[in-house]
Amino acid sequence: MQAVSPLPRTERKPASAVRTVTVLGATGSVGTSTVDLLKRGNGKYRVEAVTAHKNAVQLAQIARDLNARLAVVADPSAYRELKDALAGTGIEAASGEAASIEAAQRPAEWVMAAVSGSVGLRSTLAAAKRGATVALANKECLVCAGAMFMRTAAASGATVLPVDSEHNAIFQALTAGPREDVSRIVITASGGPFRTWTREQMRAAKLEQALKHPNWSMGPKITIDSATMFNKVLELIEAHHLFAVEPAKLAVLVHPQSIIHGMVEYRDGSVVAQLGSPDMRIPIAHCLAWPTRIDGPAAKLDLAKIGSLTFEAPDPDRFPALELGRRALETGGAAPTILNAANEVAVAAFIGGQIGFGGIADLVEATLEAAERRNATAEPQDIDEALAVDHMARSLAHDLFPEIAAKSF
Ligand code: NDP
Ligand code: MG
Repeated sequence: MQAVSPLPRTERKPASAVRTVTVLGATGSVGTSTVDLLKRGNGKYRVEAVTAHKNAVQLAQIARDLNARLAVVADPSAYRELKDALAGTGIEAASGEAASIEAAQRPAEWVMAAVSGSVGLRSTLAAAKRGATVALANKECLVCAGAMFMRTAAASGATVLPVDSEHNAIFQALTAGPREDVSRIVITASGGPFRTWTREQMRAAKLEQALKHPNWSMGPKITIDSATMFNKVLELIEAHHLFAVEPAKLAVLVHPQSIIHGMVEYRDGSVVAQLGSPDMRIPIAHCLAWPTRIDGPAAKLDLAKIGSLTFEAPDPDRFPALELGRRALETGGAAPTILNAANEVAVAAFIGGQIGFGGIADLVEATLEAAERRNATAEPQDIDEALAVDHMARSLAHDLFPEIAAKSF
C-alpha cells in the first residue's frame, strides 16, 4: 500500500486563543470524554456543532452544556425529540446524513471524529477536505480508505492528530528522532478479557464476558474488537496509514497493564515510549491542546503503586484475527476495507446473540476469501468506491452468515 502522511512533523503553529471545535459522535465514549474536557476549558473553546446517531436527549444536553450552535442526529426519526429538547435555546437542530456531513463542513478549526464504524467516513472526510485539524478516533475511516483519506488530508493541508491511545503515543514518541531513522513501531495491546483463556473457553464466551474490558471503558464495538484482537488489527492498518510506515516495521506487543501505549524504536537501538493511565482523556487532551499542553483531569501515573509492567508475545493461535489482519495489511488494496466491513457485521451479530464468539474471525476470513475469489480486491480510489466495497463485503458476509453462525455455537 502506498502511504502519504499529512501528520505534522516540525511545523508548530500555536493554537489561537479561542478554538472553535466540533464533536462528531459526541454522545459516545470518546465523545463524552471530549465533552468533559471542553467543559473544563473555561471559555477556551467555542463549540460549532455536535452530532450523534439517535440519542437526541443526551445530545441536546451536551449542546446546551457546551452552548453549541448546531446539534445533528443522523437518524431523522430522532429529529422531533432533538428539536423539542432544544426549544428556546437558540441552538439549531438538524437531522439526516447530509446534515451530519454539513456539521463537519462548518468552519470549526478542530474536529473530533468519534463516530463508531465506517458510517463515520463521510463526515470525517468532509472535515479533512476543508483543511481542519482532525482529531481522529474513527479508526475505521483509515482502515476502509486510509490511502485516500491521507491523500485528501495532505492535499487540503489538514492536520490529522491521532486520538487512538497507541497512535497518540507513537505520534508523541516520533518527535524524538528523524522519521527515516525509525526501525520499528510497537503497538501495545492489553490482550483484552480473554488474554489467558483457552480457545475452547473463548468459543463459548458470552457477550457480558466479552464486554468486560480489564482496563478501558469504551463503546461496545471496540470492546468486542479488543476481545477478539481485531482492534489491534485495525490499529496496525491505522498506523500504516497515519505514519506512512511499511507493515514489516509494525509490531504488536501484549502489555496487560495498558500503561505503555506505544513505542518507537530508532536505528541506534533507543526505544522511546509514551506512558499514562488508561484514560482516553489523556490522548484527547493532547490533541485538543496540540502543539501545546493543557491540564488534564485523568489520574496521574503512580508507577510505584502499579509495581510492575509485564509483556507477552501475542498468540496467533488463540487470536486468529492477528493473522487475518497481517494478511489483509500485506495484500493491501480493498482487503482492509473488506476485513473491516465483515468484522462490523460479525460484531453486530455477536452483540445481537446471532453468532458465537469464535464465529467472528471465521466470518471475516470467509468474507475475505469470497471477495478474493471474485477478484473484488482493487484499492478504493475515492469515497464512493470505498463505500461500494464496504457494501459489497457486508452483503458477502450476510450470505456466508447462516452457515458460519450455525457452526459457531
Ligand atoms: P461509541 O459506540 O461509544 O459511540 C459512537 C458515537 O457515534 C455515538 O455518539 C453515536 O451516537 C455516534 N454515531 C453512530 N452512528 C452515527 C452516525 N451515523 N452519525 C453521527 N453519529 C453517529 O463509540 P466509541 O466512542 O467507543 O468509539 C468511537 C470511535 O473511536 C470508534 O471508531 C473507535 O474505534 C474509536 N476509539 C474509541 C476508543 C474508546 O476508548 N472508546 C479508543 C480508541 C479509538 P448515538 O449515541 O446516538 O448512538
Ligand atoms: Mg487503541
